[in-house]
Amino acid sequence: MEKTKCLIIGAGPAGYTAAIYAGRAALDPVVIEGPEPGGQLTTTHIVENYPGFAEGIDARALMDAMRAQAERFGARMVRGSVVSCELATRSVTLDSGETWSGDTLIIATGASAKYLGLESENRFRGLGVSACATCDGFFYRKRTVAVVGGGDSACEEALYLSSLASKVYMIVRKDYLRASEANKKRIAAAPNIEVLFGSVTKEVLGDESGVTGARLERGGELYDIRIDGFFLAIGRHPNAEWLGGQLPVDENGYILSDGVKTSVPGVFVAGDVRNTDFRQAVTAASDGCRAALEAEKYYKNEIQ
Ligand code: NDP
Repeated sequence: MEKTKCLIIGAGPAGYTAAIYAGRAALDPVVIEGPEPGGQLTTTHIVENYPGFAEGIDARALMDAMRAQAERFGARMVRGSVVSCELATRSVTLDSGETWSGDTLIIATGASAKYLGLESENRFRGLGVSACATCDGFFYRKRTVAVVGGGDSACEEALYLSSLASKVYMIVRKDYLRASEANKKRIAAAPNIEVLFGSVTKEVLGDESGVTGARLERGGELYDIRIDGFFLAIGRHPNAEWLGGQLPVDENGYILSDGVKTSVPGVFVAGDVRNTDFRQAVTAASDGCRAALEAEKYYKNEIQ
């Protein structure tokens, strides 16, 4: 088993920021990068709301820069996913068979957007198909978009998009919204939002320029809508299964914590995988910083 002072699981803004701070604190961080190095941001194109980039920045370039910055301070990157772990000893086993343990452990495995699973949806990912209105909505100013889902997230994404796009369809498979009364009222009051109840997406339509429409089914009948952007808001999925229930989670599977501290000594949690109010790259990075500073404190007080 290989050992380090600070083991970080996850390579999004939270994991890389934790690695930058842990590296500077001489904790020899090792980052287990998982199946999606760069995290959720890499599913989008341009990031326009990360501070410091007046003209926006390519999402992949931003994540590559964070990774390089962490490496500059000595962080080691390990490819592989955790298949099992023992939090009490802060040790993990990877799909490669490698085992690692840390004097401190930072969990930063994030969350993943759920997709419908259609082949056409996959084909147009990043070409009009997005699971983040805040990231990509800006590109649809005065255009027509659709949001799939009828929960609070879908309502909020649709409302956000309605301030930019000229028309927003909500594609809702049931005959009602599964959202708070406040959000239902706001949707009903928005003049440019049309809710397509009882409708299921069968195919995302498009050409070489990207998404041009969607084929929907309602009551056994197929019909098409013309759209430029297709947004998913059917829920997110915290990447916490690998913990095998060793930490308490909320009803949606997000890790319950006291800030970035978990109930296990020396184990910290940062970013979208924890039960937190905001799920933005910058808040995840902030969490990563806090988790590394807590890890440094723990290492100095309990281990050194
Ligand atoms: P929800 O699980 O509440 O809603 C998911 C929506 O997506 C439902 O309408 C569901 O339909 C639909 N859906 C799921 N799978 C599919 C599919 N395969 N095809 C089509 N539609 C699908 O998720 P949210 O992310 O909206 O919210 C998660 C939690 O966070 C909720 O408790 C919510 O209240 C809360 N939240 C609160 C906010 C607020 O209060 N401001 C903001 C955002 C979230 P169906 O109803 O048919 O299952």
